[in-house]
Amino acid sequence: MALIVQKYGGTSVADADRIKHVAQRLAARHAAGDKLVVVVSAMGSTTNELLQLAAQVSDHPEARELDVLLSTGEMVTKTLVAMALHTLDVEAVSLTGAQAGLQTDTSHGRARILAVEPARIERELERGRVVIVAGFQGISEELEVTTLGRGASDITPVALAAALKAKQCEIYTDVDGIYSADPRIEPNARRLRDISYEEMLELSSLGARVLHPRAAELAMVFNIPVVVASSFEEGTGTLIHGGVTMEQFNKVRGIADDPHVAKITLRGVPDQPGIAAAIFEPLAEHHISVDTIVQNASVERLTDLTFTLASSDLSAATKIVKEAAKQIGAGEVIAEDHVGKVSIVGTGIQSAPGYAARMFRALSEAGINMEMISTSEIRITCIMQETDVEKAVRALHATFEMEKAEASEL
Ligand code: ADP
Ligand code: ASP
Ligand code: MG
Repeated sequence: MALIVQKYGGTSVADADRIKHVAQRLAARHAAGDKLVVVVSAMGSTTNELLQLAAQVSDHPEARELDVLLSTGEMVTKTLVAMALHTLDVEAVSLTGAQAGLQTDTSHGRARILAVEPARIERELERGRVVIVAGFQGISEELEVTTLGRGASDITPVALAAALKAKQCEIYTDVDGIYSADPRIEPNARRLRDISYEEMLELSSLGARVLHPRAAELAMVFNIPVVVASSFEEGTGTLIHGGVTMEQFNKVRGIADDPHVAKITLRGVPDQPGIAAAIFEPLAEHHISVDTIVQNASVERLTDLTFTLASSDLSAATKIVKEAAKQIGAGEVIAEDHVGKVSIVGTGIQSAPGYAARMFRALSEAGINMEMISTSEIRITCIMQETDVEKAVRALHATFEMEKAEASEL
């Protein structure tokens, strides 16, 4: 008898029929003898609808109230899944994040899990019940309801799997695994049989929304095997694990794209110590993460500084940077939305010769202008216009022959 933590995403529980389908899958697995803890997302686009509703009554909804509102989406689903299981004569109980013991910090809308107190779940499992948990939410030390961030219900099952020492975590979604690129953009994308934690973390952080980056990170830290598979059909999916991957013929394991990127340029920045800190510290204080940073060589002790960030942070960041620019005596601040980034990811990419050159050649042959480039040991990222992102994914997928299976997978 194994303890398994599963998660079903929004599309997989979008209506009553899908919820009944999920309940049938759970009933079969329960009958087979596994102990199940099941995390669910809000139904379909409920979270977006709740956000729109809040916007209709307030321009600046208080973060505390917004979190309580958003947490209701997942609560509706967990209750309905439990009810559907009861009709199949399966003993089940549904729990909120707080009841499930998910303790977080107090940062509303982007809370981090500090600890999981699994006693309640363990008691329910001992009674033979299937435990359904509302994803994406927790409770702070001040007993406030918190949410973990958009798309973050993936984090809940991995945290629970770690706390409960589950055998494995299974994420069920609307695709049947992790692909070499988003299959909605590249129809020739190939499903990967397995992928390392490091590669998955990189793909997720660079835009592959199939798994939240903090879920990949937690899985890596606690060494929890994660299977990503379809909730609609049977299949083995993709295993994310820490096992050593044999040396691959093709170093590129995946292509990630993110069309929701923005860019800020500061002109005429005085070239002296402490200037970069003066710009980036206030951004960090407001929890705004910046990505690729490029500083040009200075001419007459003035330089230009450009960096990218998430589109959703652009307006707040522009205000902060304009203020900082005034204080350090810099020139114009230019904010540009509608840029995107495309990355090739794979262990050893940087040390293998030729990958960067092939990437740049493929993009130039597709007529795509690269605005910025950044690299790490495991990836090469290009910033471009948002309208070029999908074309770039397809061009790179073809250039690196990613539709072909690795010899180890045949
Ligand atoms: P859920 O609601 O189940 O959390 P998401 O919409 O968050 O599902 O994530 C699944 C989606 O991720 C897929 O429909 C797919 O379009 C997208 N995706 C992006 N990159 C990849 C990839 N490399 N492999 C598989 N899916 C990907
Ligand atoms: N319901 C939340 C969202 O839409 C969390 C999730 O589904 O992952 O962002
Ligand atoms: Mg998701």
